[in-house]
Amino acid sequence: MKPASKLWFDSIRHGPYPLTNQDIDKHVAKKCLGNHLLGSIANGEFIPRYAGRSDSDLNRRIKEHIHEGYGHFKFDYAKSVIDAYNSECKHYHTFKDLNEPCDNDRHPDKPDDQPHVKCPYCKI
Ligand SMILES: [Zn+2]
Repeated sequence: MKPASKLWFDSIRHGPYPLTNQDIDKHVAKKCLGNHLLGSIANGEFIPRYAGRSDSDLNRRIKEHIHEGYGHFKFDYAKSVIDAYNSECKHYHTFKDLNEPCDNDRHPDKPDDQPHVKCPYCKI
């Protein structure tokens, strides 16, 4: 049984897929907003190490990470930039709460056109 908060990562529905140009183009529609996790597979389980999002083009954003040493990615689409922001905050705080190693060294940025939105978890 996984710790409850680790289940948050399972809400990212698509993947894991190999982090390659071909797999990104095969699975991720262009010009869509959404969230992604980057990590690796160990003992058949996806281990996330980085959480990110794109408010404009998730396909392009994931490709920017291809040469950073991650083996696999998961992703999901978001209904709005607020949705995408909330999910990224959820993943970021899950890493911190679980004290898992993660490569996000700072809190997710607010969406450009939503400077007043607050993180649902730490209220900043
Ligand atoms: Zn927060």
